[in-house]
Amino acid sequence: MIESEKDLVVIGGGPAGLLSAISASKNKVDVTLLESKEVIGLHEHCAGLLSIDGLKSLDLLNLPSDVIQNSEIRGSRLYSPTGKLLVVQKSRPTAWVVNRARFDAYLASLATDLGVDIRTSSRVKQITRQKESLKYHLGKKSSSSMLSSKLTILAEGRFPSLNEQIGLPKPSRKDVIFASQFIMSGVRDIDTELVEIYQYNSLVPGFFAWIIPINDSTAKVGLGTTIPPAGRKLDDIIRKHPIAKKKLSSAKIEKRMSGAIPIGSHIKKTFTDNALVVGDAAGQTKPTTGGGVIFGGLAAKIAGEVVGKALEKNDFSSRFLSQYERKWKKEFGFNLKIMKIVRNYLNSLNDDYVEKLFTKLNKPKIKEKISKFGDVDEQAKIVFRLLSNLSLWPFVIGTGMRFLFKKN
Ligand SMILES: Cc1cc2nc3c(=O)[nH]c(=O)nc-3n(C[C@H](O)[C@H](O)[C@H](O)COP(=O)(O)OP(=O)(O)OC[C@H]3O[C@@H](n4cnc5c(N)ncnc54)[C@H](O)[C@@H]3O)c2cc1C
Repeated sequence: MIESEKDLVVIGGGPAGLLSAISASKNKVDVTLLESKEVIGLHEHCAGLLSIDGLKSLDLLNLPSDVIQNSEIRGSRLYSPTGKLLVVQKSRPTAWVVNRARFDAYLASLATDLGVDIRTSSRVKQITRQKESLKYHLGKKSSSSMLSSKLTILAEGRFPSLNEQIGLPKPSRKDVIFASQFIMSGVRDIDTELVEIYQYNSLVPGFFAWIIPINDSTAKVGLGTTIPPAGRKLDDIIRKHPIAKKKLSSAKIEKRMSGAIPIGSHIKKTFTDNALVVGDAAGQTKPTTGGGVIFGGLAAKIAGEVVGKALEKNDFSSRFLSQYERKWKKEFGFNLKIMKIVRNYLNSLNDDYVEKLFTKLNKPKIKEKISKFGDVDEQAKIVFRLLSNLSLWPFVIGTGMRFLFKKN
């Protein structure tokens, strides 16, 4: 059975899909959202660390209290492989820790209130073009077998299967981080206002490990790496890192989760006739930290607005929809580029150089600069501020040369 043609079909009920649906709906678009899982937010796969400024830009500062797990994060404790410590913090909270399953469920409730038709257990298996619209072939569990619409927003997350079916690229599999995370109780010596980051390249190649406090004894403990298995590496960090082992060796694992994060930066093109791509499916994830909810959400908000205008003008052409890409790139495209360079540079350092970098950064003036200009989302700002510090240049040039020659 094929239903009457929809204006907009959003595929994927993660934050990017839901925020696209909310934005489009606020722009007077009739939206149908298709999600393959039975329940929105099922299988939480995220640490849920979100910047307060980012949430503000997404009009999400009034999250219900049961979504917020910690609203006091104002900085980080960064640890080197041998346990050297660098603390950077602001005078006020800058991020919240949220329960991602409840966060997604809350977004779904906002979307439903705005009239979005959310259909769970509805996996889109295939998209085909027909004249002026797109036709969706749905999996067996779906209540309808086919739908069609004038426009689509693809928000399938990290391993999209549909981008290529309509001629768009997907994030490279080569630049994926495999992540594992435990919720642990009985964690010792954590500060509820500070996230802990462990940069230990030989044990955690390609990324880092983290402890994100929920309260003074419960935390999300995780890591990401380019070389799986991530779970075994997380056990190694817990047992072997001189600082982490003191905090975690007697803690209890309450819950395990795993996932993947595309950190190769955005795909080359995020629009085509009748379609836009948002979120992880477009690679709108920060290469430095793997955070994707805020940038994906900002892109989603723009996508919803552009779809609204396209319907108003009755123009679904690639040329008209290209304004989506121009706008999101203006918002955070430059930051993504700088973050990718920083990530590649950090990954190129061996543990000895990481130790040296910690020593270089652990100077009062530099720490002051990091604390003042460091920003969870706009990371380019702090990179340029640090580079304006001449004392760092010999180290950056020396290790940068190694990085360039090693890489190419
Ligand atoms: C361990 C870990 C920790 C993380 N920590 C953070 C963090 O602290 N802060 C942060 O900002 N980000 C974090 N991230 C990244 C963040 O989780 C993602 O960037 C974010 O979930 C991307 O949202 P999305 O909507 O693009 O994709 P998803 O959240 O993956 O949602 C995609 C949805 O689409 C559905 N879907 C897929 N294909 C189809 C189809 N064909 N038909 C119908 N439905 C489909 C899926 O079932 C899924 O529900 C973390 C990721 C991991 C793995």
